[in-house]
Parts: sequence; C-alpha cells; structure tokens
Amino acid sequence: MDTDVIVIGAGVTGLCAATQLLQQRGADSVLCLEASEHPGGTTGSDRVDGFVLDWGGNGFLDREPRTLEWIDSLGLSDGLVRANTAAAKRFIYRHGRLHEIKGPPAFFFSSLLSWKARLRLCFEPFIPAKRERSPESIHGFASRRIGAEAARIMVGAMVLGVYGGDAEKLSMEHCFPRMTAMERDYGGLMKALLAINMKRRASPMGPPGVLTSFEGGTGTLVEKAAALLGDRIRYNSAAKVVTKTESGYTVSLADGRQLKSRAVIVALPSHGAAKITAGLDLSLSQALDEIPYAGLAVVSLCFPREAVGHDLDGFGFLVPRGEGVRTLGCLWTSTLFPSQAPEDSVLLRVMIGGATDPEALGLSDEQLVALALEELTPLLDIKGEATLTRVMRHEQGIPQYTLGHEERLSAIEAGEEVFPGLAFAGNAYRGIGLNDCVLSADRALGLITDYLA
Ligand SMILES: Cc1cc2nc3c(=O)[nH]c(=O)nc-3n(C[C@H](O)[C@H](O)[C@H](O)COP(=O)(O)OP(=O)(O)OC[C@H]3O[C@@H](n4cnc5c(N)ncnc54)[C@H](O)[C@@H]3O)c2cc1C
Repeated sequence: MDTDVIVIGAGVTGLCAATQLLQQRGADSVLCLEASEHPGGTTGSDRVDGFVLDWGGNGFLDREPRTLEWIDSLGLSDGLVRANTAAAKRFIYRHGRLHEIKGPPAFFFSSLLSWKARLRLCFEPFIPAKRERSPESIHGFASRRIGAEAARIMVGAMVLGVYGGDAEKLSMEHCFPRMTAMERDYGGLMKALLAINMKRRASPMGPPGVLTSFEGGTGTLVEKAAALLGDRIRYNSAAKVVTKTESGYTVSLADGRQLKSRAVIVALPSHGAAKITAGLDLSLSQALDEIPYAGLAVVSLCFPREAVGHDLDGFGFLVPRGEGVRTLGCLWTSTLFPSQAPEDSVLLRVMIGGATDPEALGLSDEQLVALALEELTPLLDIKGEATLTRVMRHEQGIPQYTLGHEERLSAIEAGEEVFPGLAFAGNAYRGIGLNDCVLSADRALGLITDYLA
C-alpha cells in the first residue's frame, strides 16, 4: 500500500478532505493527486498591482460552522474579511437601467416589475404549499409562488448569477433546498421569512450569513491548505483509471505510474469522475457523466476611481435574460472588499456565459473584455480606460442540477455502496458553494472512515 487514502483532485473539496485526513491520521495516510500544476481548481486568486483577482468564487457565507472550523484548523481565522456593509444594496438590470431591489413596503413602489407583477407578488402568502414531492424546476416553483414575471426577472437573474444556469431547467429541490423547506415547513416564503425573523437563529433555516473572504482573496484558503499538505500533493498527476483490488484500490496515472491505497475519494468534476470510474461500473459512470455543466467567464476590470461615475454603492447587479445584454452580472468588488483594491481604485467582476449563452466562451479574451466594457459603460458611467483587465475562463465551471438530479445521485450513492472505500465529493452533487464543498468533503470522509475502521 502506498497510503491509506488517495484523494483525487486538489480543488477546495479535495484539499478540505486531504488536510483533514492529514490532521487526523498523519501525513503518511494521505496522498492527493492533482492534474494541473497548482492547487485550487476553480478557486484561486492572482494579486496584481494591489488588486486581488479571484479566479472563481469571491467568498462564502459565514453561516456554515464546518467551513469556519476548517479555516480555523488551517490557522486562517484571523485573516477572514467580511463584506463591507456599504455593499448591502443589490440591483437588477431591466429596461436599460439598474433598479435597486427593495424590501416591502418600498418594493411596491419600485418600477422593477409591472404593477400587475407587484400585485401578484403580494398574493404569495395566500398560495397554498405544494402537497406532492414531485420534481419541479426553479422557474416552476417561483412562478407558482410569486408569479411568472417576478420569477423571470428576480429569480431567473439570481439563478444565472449563482449557477450560470437556466431556471427553467434546474431542479428547485437540489439548487435551493432551503427555499423548498421554507414552503414545506411554513406554508410559503413570506410566512417563513416572518417566522424566521421572529425566531432568528433558533430557526431551522439558520442565520443568513455574511459574504466572507480573505484579504488576499479566496485563493488564500487553497494556498494555505496546499502548503499544509506539502509533498503529500502530487501535481501534474492526472488520475486515469481507478480499479478495485482485493485490499483496496489502484489508481493508474496518465503517465503510467500506479498507486495503491485502501480507500479513494474522487473530488473531481463529475465528468472527470465518470472517466476514471468507467471500468468499475458502467451505470455509476453514466450517472456521473449525465450531470451537465455550464461554462462561465469572469472578466475583471480595474480603473482609477475617477474613471467610473457611478457611486458603486452596493454589491453589484444581476441581469435577467431577455434584456438584450450578454452580461449575467457584475460584482462591485472594491466596494464589497475594499482591501482587495488600492485606495481610489475600482475593481469590477463581470460574469459572462452560463447555460443560456454557451457561445460566449468561444469569444477571445479581447472580445470578452470589449463586450464587458461596452455593456457596462453606459450603466456605470465609465469615462476612462481600464488600467488592468483579466479574463478567467471556466469551460465547464458550474454543474447544473437539472431535473433528474435525484436519480443521478441515487445511482452514484448505489455505486458507493457497491464499492466500499470509494466516495465521490465535490460541487457536482449536493451544492455548488464553498460551504457545500466542505460538507461534501465531510460526507466522503464519513464514508471512508467507517470503511477504514
Ligand atoms: C466563476 C465561478 C464563481 C463562483 N463563485 C462562488 C462564490 O462566490 N461563492 C461560492 O461559495 N462558490 C462559488 N463558486 C463555486 C465554487 O468555487 C466551486 O464549487 C468550488 O471551487 C469547486 O471545488 P471542487 O474542489 O469541488 O472542484 P474543482 O475546483 O473543479 O476542483 C477539481 C480539481 O480536480 C483536478 N482534476 C481534474 N481532473 C483530474 C484528474 N483526472 N486527476 C487529478 N486531478 C484532476 C482539477 O485540476 C481541479 O484542481 C464559483 C464557481 C465559479 C466557476
């Protein structure tokens, strides 16, 4: 045996699982294999001229104790940075301008939605909860509860912003389980919000959480985890095939090397997991391969403060489909995390692509930057040159939990039962956020720890 556990993939999920194994069982008990030459997968940060340019996620909600515990175990708790309260306002683009999203009663006087849609939204508390637990799309759920227009504009935009996804195709239960629970447990969303506000932290929904990162960006987390693992991570080591042996598993690498372990955690995007397990079990590999992905490009734009006329007094804005622009959303990072840009500068992050605009990933970097600038200029009153631009591409960046995800999860779980000591972890299964990745690593550790014991 080369080690007890091989973790395949050094994204957030793999790093979380591997560092915990190292801390609990010692360095000899774990090896982490990473195809590329750096850790982090889609999570990482470049630091250029005082700007922090996150590759993918720019933070996580600080409501998941397990994430905070992991961060603490890495000695990073003191470096956490919470989003600036000046970034509380959020905007949606519609009819050529930005509308602030307001709560009741101001919402009723906002022109974001038509009068009819605003009235329909007020009826939400009177819409009965769905009785049967049949699969429902996010758009189906939202239009049933708040009306079709509010669903398209508000929820559709949010789904594009979070998942780069199409609300008509994604499964409500798997993408927003907390909201499904709000309807089930409280009878409706307004009723749930009222009850939660009254009970606050005692509620099963928990606190909403504050967007949190590090001064050096989310890359700080993966860099520290990778440093702790040291030579227990093998870079440029793509796993090609996993085979079962009498005493555990053999992982064959693309360069012909073979490594043996008692257990394996596969922390890859599901299409990668499908390839390396195809020889083990065809139905398992097919279920993994059927989880679709959407590509996203993140365009970072840096300006001197005077080059941007807009106050940038908020989080940023989202764009529903059908508004004639290709930008999915724009985060005002220098407002959210002022320490991530030099004083008197602006850092914007623009998302382009997603499931509804796959062609966007075919654009060159120059074209993506030009597109972002063209669409943002009138909205944010940009009147000077960007001093720095950066494009990060995530060709298959975000898994899409489309209808049928439950069946795919069941087939994958069945595979884990047939092959004790083999566990699948990552953002493809039960949540895409950094918090979900930590929980997914925990779940995999639970499965293989029982087996090793
Ligand atoms: C643009 C974008 C914005 C996001 N924003 C947020 C956000 O604001 N907040 C939030 O919470 N989440 C956000 N997310 C989601 C979150 O960042 C991801 O879900 C998370 O980083 C995924 O981590 P992972 O380890 O599961 O997978 P990955 O990051 O995909 O890591 C998988 C790793 O496996 C490696 N690998 C692949 N094949 C092999 C092989 N055969 N052998 C060995 N290694 C292999 C890859 O190189 C990679 O390092 C965002 C994601 C994207 C793309």
